[in-house]
Amino acid sequence: MSIVTVFTEFTNGQLKKGALELLTAARSSGNKVQAIALGSGAGRIADQLAQYGVDEAFLGDNAAFDDYNPEIFAAAVAQILEAQKPAIALASSTMLGRDLFPRVAARLKTGVASDCTELTISGDGVQARRPMYAGKCTAAVVFENSPVKMVLMRPNQLPAGTPEGKKNVVVHQVPTPTLDLKTLVKQIVKGASEKLDLTEANVIVAGGRGMRDAASFKLLHDLAEVIGATVGASRAVVDAGWVPHGMQVGQTGKTVAPTLYIACGISGAIQHLAGMSGSKVIVAINKDASAPIFQKATYGLVGDVFEVLPLLTAEFKKLLH
Ligand SMILES: Cc1cc2nc3c(=O)[nH]c(=O)nc-3n(C[C@H](O)[C@H](O)[C@H](O)COP(=O)(O)OP(=O)(O)OC[C@H]3O[C@@H](n4cnc5c(N)ncnc54)[C@H](O)[C@@H]3O)c2cc1C
Repeated sequence: MSIVTVFTEFTNGQLKKGALELLTAARSSGNKVQAIALGSGAGRIADQLAQYGVDEAFLGDNAAFDDYNPEIFAAAVAQILEAQKPAIALASSTMLGRDLFPRVAARLKTGVASDCTELTISGDGVQARRPMYAGKCTAAVVFENSPVKMVLMRPNQLPAGTPEGKKNVVVHQVPTPTLDLKTLVKQIVKGASEKLDLTEANVIVAGGRGMRDAASFKLLHDLAEVIGATVGASRAVVDAGWVPHGMQVGQTGKTVAPTLYIACGISGAIQHLAGMSGSKVIVAINKDASAPIFQKATYGLVGDVFEVLPLLTAEFKKLLH
């Protein structure tokens, strides 16, 4: 039996959805499943890891892991993988995962496939698929000469199974690596939003230049409030200074794959599509029937956002509240 090691992200004592998806894939592969969790409160997720089929957990329940420092994380994860020699290592293709895994892969002289949207594990082999050229095509990725096959999966692409009966999980404490650090993380300033980050959101309402100005984004927030969505934006409105860059979806913004993406006044430029075309259902609202977004949309509404959005919000309110 081979080993699959999953680097798991968690918040407020709960595993993030992306981590549950990876653990589900690992446990259904029939291999031995290991999990790594770093940061204060990691000890509290041991039960949840056990319910998701983890045999062995490496927990760094330590404030030294709280503010993500790439040097500390890379050293700790590389040490575990070097000692455990898993066939496969998985992490979510989040900002953290995309920063961490290439650093670890370089240390282990192994390959990493990032931003994958499909994953098949058979025995100690893995095949992944990832979009290329801003989503114009996808490539099948296989590994050669890679002691550990490292895969970064986009969240929301794999099913997150349900917890199973509790099993025993062997817990190892992860010591803080003693390093001569080149960089220090002094402070992490969290964004003001209490909503889920775009990359984790299940429903996104995004606005483009068709929203006319920053104040009109209120229409998007109103709808998002009713349906429990996170608000995103096109680059045009970020460049115009209407919303912060953290809200940008696309090639030079965030890659998202929610169950539902509602694009409002967004034309559907290839660079925007690159960040959201993995969404399961896409609804486009645009007054120009020939806007390219309609070619990607599951449902298209040709209309003025200033008329359609208040109507949608009112109807959803009736349905959901
Ligand atoms: C290297 C590079 C990287 C880039 N990265 C990104 C990226 O990460 N993300 C990104 O989004 N873009 C990116 N872009 C920019 C991209 O090419 C487009 O310029 C941008 O996505 C356009 O944003 P938009 O759709 O909001 O605006 P527009 O293209 O101006 O479209 C506005 C749309 O709103 C519609 N509209 C207007 N008024 C209304 C109304 N009242 N009701 C309904 N519809 C209305 C119009 O019909 C139009 O389709 C990048 C470009 C480059 C060159």
